Amino acid sequence: MGLEEYHRKRDFERTPEPAGARGRKARDPIFVVQKHNASRLHYDVRIEVDGVLVSWAVPKGPSLDPKVKRLAVHVEDHPMDYAYFEGVIPRDNYGAGQVIVWDRGTYRNVRDEPVARGIAAGHVSVWLEGTKLRGGWSLQRMDGTSWLLVKRNDELADPAVDIATERPESVLTGQTIEDLQREAG
Ligand code: MN
Repeated sequence: MGLEEYHRKRDFERTPEPAGARGRKARDPIFVVQKHNASRLHYDVRIEVDGVLVSWAVPKGPSLDPKVKRLAVHVEDHPMDYAYFEGVIPRDNYGAGQVIVWDRGTYRNVRDEPVARGIAAGHVSVWLEGTKLRGGWSLQRMDGTSWLLVKRNDELADPAVDIATERPESVLTGQTIEDLQREAG
């Protein structure tokens, strides 16, 4: 794990995204979910592990229904500063489009082994304390970069709520992807 691929893909003279460096941990680990309207809309689920944000791109976003398995593509680690990034990545840059902080909070590892080792083995199980996402969640590798994101069956599961549709806004600013599109013209 490292930020080399993240840096290689971006020209920080031309994108407002943070260049960032590996950070130091001094509190509970954080998670962030960014809604990213790139060439295809997706949700980037990121969890802090050893000073970087380990990241998965989830095309359909998280579901609160434990019976729903959402494809999560493991992508390059991002710097800790990325957890605060909300805005527009200019045209012709990697990931061009609007980004909002759709949810954010802290998490607890609920497995016995460290999260980094779980990622290497293809199993992540965490308890999220976010605004929209709370309770137990698991990420399970199928093969290669393809993982599945699933809500665990606990009292915070709620098959009746389509969280991505019902809560489209940023937890930082309240703005939506559509608001950012309008601002950009
Ligand atoms: Mn993305």
